[in-house]
Amino acid sequence: MRVSTAFNRLLQIPGATVTEVAIGDGDIEVHLRPRARLLRCPCGKRVRAVYDRRRRRWRHLDLARCRLWLVYDIRRLNCPDCGVVTEELPWARPGARHTRDFEDMVLWLAQRTDRTSVSTLMRCAWETVTAIINRGVAELLDARRLDTLYRIGVDEICYRHPHRYLTVIGDHDTGTVIDVEMGRSRESLANFYTSQPDSVLTALETVSMDVSSVYTSVTTEHLPHVTICYDGFHLMQWIQRALDRVFAESVRLPGYATADWKAARWALRTGENKLTDDKRALVSQIARTHRRIGRAWTLKEQARDLYRYDHEPGGARRLLKAWITAAARSRIPVFVSLSKRFRKYFDSILAAIELGISNALLEGINAKIRLINARGYGHHSAQTLTSMIYLCLGGLQVTLPTKT
Ligand SMILES: [Zn+2]
Repeated sequence: MRVSTAFNRLLQIPGATVTEVAIGDGDIEVHLRPRARLLRCPCGKRVRAVYDRRRRRWRHLDLARCRLWLVYDIRRLNCPDCGVVTEELPWARPGARHTRDFEDMVLWLAQRTDRTSVSTLMRCAWETVTAIINRGVAELLDARRLDTLYRIGVDEICYRHPHRYLTVIGDHDTGTVIDVEMGRSRESLANFYTSQPDSVLTALETVSMDVSSVYTSVTTEHLPHVTICYDGFHLMQWIQRALDRVFAESVRLPGYATADWKAARWALRTGENKLTDDKRALVSQIARTHRRIGRAWTLKEQARDLYRYDHEPGGARRLLKAWITAAARSRIPVFVSLSKRFRKYFDSILAAIELGISNALLEGINAKIRLINARGYGHHSAQTLTSMIYLCLGGLQVTLPTKT
């Protein structure tokens, strides 16, 4: 068998035939000739006349211990619509110096491991890995469809201290990242809304976010039809802090050992259903002897119940109203001011309870982004980090060339 025939069978380069193979010390050069006479413009048109030719090499997947290169005289054509452009090739992305197979392998690895491992295994430079990721992700994002999107969450993430932020938009139903925007302002989220087609925007029903976030008004302006959900986690944090403050301001009555008093602080924070018997006894004793603490603790537990249980239709609304009234009448200043905030954000707090939506999805995404950030893909540039977020969390499907 001739060497060129052997390489034709081995490589099976789409649209091209091997004409010559040069095996050197550690490198193999495979020369290619196009199989079809017609040239393909990136716009899809096919043209017969060649404008000019220029030799180009593409790095392909290694063969044994050798680097494998494809050598081909790439043609330019004069497209009636586009002018003079470089022909499109089936084995490489436009402008790339690596084959599609090589790049797909890099993308697949980058989804799973750190940059040093990828560049060592693939025997290419860090910068090459970064360039491949940026180009590959752009192509995969173009092919992505968002027509099933209807419940999204939005949050900010600090990716470099101090004050470097990204706005991240996630899909509640697939758990994937839909969009990443620079900064954490109204404009950041507005960029996402204005870049989506109307069909995507009108299909949206719910947007979840942190309480009173800057994203609220811009969402109302662009999507007046959606329900905004305020995350319950932060509301519970406010309430826990208020309870803590009531406790700190209270004077320890004689009859309580110092250790008991300290233990009480944690017992009060713990959910009632998670208390041990002796801690439950301690809490109910303090609730009797320190009436203010008792009232604050009851308010905290009632708020927890709002998020813990399924409610009958209208039940959550009634309970939330009752809670606000009780807090307003508690004669405890921190809870009185909380009742005002709850009244102000009533609709969005209630929507989150009734729809059972929290921003926990975004918290999870943020934790994963911090891990990606630690893998060292040269994230001084927000663009590279953004590409990595899409690649690892965007639900993008990378197909391994070697997969059977
Ligand atoms: Zn064209």
